Amino acid sequence: MSGKIKRIAVKIGTSSLTHENGTINIAAIERLVRILSDLKNRGIEVVLISSGAIGIGASKLGIKGKPGTIRERQAAAAVGQCALMDLYDKLFSEYGYVIGQLLLTKDISDDPVKRQNAENSFATLLSYNVIPIVNENDAISTSEIGISNFGDNDSLSAFVAVLSGCDALCIMTDRDGLYDSDPTENKNAKIIPVVEEITDEIIAHCGKASSRGTGGMITKVNAAKTATEAGIDTYLINSAKATEIYKIVDGEPFCGTIFKKRS
Ligand code: GLU
Repeated sequence: MSGKIKRIAVKIGTSSLTHENGTINIAAIERLVRILSDLKNRGIEVVLISSGAIGIGASKLGIKGKPGTIRERQAAAAVGQCALMDLYDKLFSEYGYVIGQLLLTKDISDDPVKRQNAENSFATLLSYNVIPIVNENDAISTSEIGISNFGDNDSLSAFVAVLSGCDALCIMTDRDGLYDSDPTENKNAKIIPVVEEITDEIIAHCGKASSRGTGGMITKVNAAKTATEAGIDTYLINSAKATEIYKIVDGEPFCGTIFKKRS
């Protein structure tokens, strides 16, 4: 553990930002914004990768559960993204911080010019002390209509952590970390605190996706693989215990899992 984090990418998922009925979990977002603003006050740069657009948009459109069709998901994303950013803007501005929205598509990762442009955007926003808030551009980007996409914000978060020059990635989810067996089925399941290398055995510890989220544990571990191979320590913590991030930036023991960067 370092205690030397200067720039951190924080990813939060839909199940952490919404209630069971799909509406915005205002308390959870307020807690997140308060903590991230506090990190900024301590001089740590923050890049936020936030899911929730489709879930919140579906709720606003009166769609029950996950939208079933691509068109419904696109419409829900367009509506929900506005609601999400409106709330982030209000809450961060209470602490004096300015946010900027970046909606990315996967082609950026393959096209050197687009990639450079995205890198420039992050660098410039950060130089203005802005908190970039990132999501996939779900209204136009879906693999089902033949456009390659990230599909889940865990993969997106690893890509963004690299692109924006972060030295740490913190994925917040609805579990306390990576367990050695499925904690919903085995009450003796234990958190794996440190992962030195992402082996097949580690991948075998990943269970199923939650009902409101997209990826589940496997996409988080895959994201950790991408980030750690790029030299970025990756942390997995419970969004309900988001204050654990203070321990992470202080280099103290925390409740969660660290996937150590490959040196
Ligand atoms: N981009 C999606 C959204 O904002 C979330 C994808 C994910 O949950 O991984 O709804």
